[in-house]
Amino acid sequence: MKVAIRDDDTCYFTAPDELERVYADIWDRVPVCLATVPFAIGYERHGIPREHWHSGDALPLDCNAELVDYVKQLHRANRITVALHGYTHEDFPGGFEFQAAPDPERRVSEGLAYLRRTLDVSVGIFVPPHNALSKRGLAAVTRHGLNLLGSFLSFRPSMRPWELRTLGNWWRVQRFRTRTGRGRRDRFVYPFVLRYGSHAEFGCHSLVPGTTLAELVTGFDEARKAGGDFCLATHYWEVDQTLKDVMRRFLDYAARCGDVRFVAAEELFA
Ligand SMILES: [Zn+2]
Repeated sequence: MKVAIRDDDTCYFTAPDELERVYADIWDRVPVCLATVPFAIGYERHGIPREHWHSGDALPLDCNAELVDYVKQLHRANRITVALHGYTHEDFPGGFEFQAAPDPERRVSEGLAYLRRTLDVSVGIFVPPHNALSKRGLAAVTRHGLNLLGSFLSFRPSMRPWELRTLGNWWRVQRFRTRTGRGRRDRFVYPFVLRYGSHAEFGCHSLVPGTTLAELVTGFDEARKAGGDFCLATHYWEVDQTLKDVMRRFLDYAARCGDVRFVAAEELFA
């Protein structure tokens, strides 16, 4: 069984200390997939200075030279991998970035080229801001052969371009739903990769304020029993002592299972 970690929102506003604080005792055990925003626009959240909440300025990652050096160093030490997490991570009146931006194609191709060039890494995964993706957003992402990591199962055939495998994947998910005694509205994370013509998708289990160890263990046990894999998704900027404790205890629990292998998120798609 493969177990991975994804961490969202590394961007211009991230101080190396913030990543260090959460992951210094984790990433030698489990490499962390940093879902990174190339040209972040500020918004109201902890860790973003107030003057950037409404400025609308897009700030290139490489204007934070200290962070860029740090991320490169982490990558060389195999402690992290890098995924593309939107382009500016801004919200539009009509929805989140990859639902409502007028130019998702440009955002993917420029964002991808920029991250590869700036951080000197390969990038194979896209994480949609707010886990939201329109049909056009999905097409822009898959055109570059990027795989998708989401935080919930957004599998609605109506939300995706039609292709031959859509029906087969829909059927797989339904079968899992029935087998686990769930109804149409019960939430779950499908523990296997769904493969399409030019990309693949995998759902993550969120670690957010309020998430308990018991919830993660239940999801993990279910995935393990089914023969599937597991990816934990969080945001470094909301990991406090309580969440850190949940994360550590969850990883200890997983490590006690002899068949578990901690991997970089990219390996979930191998
Ligand atoms: Zn985000």
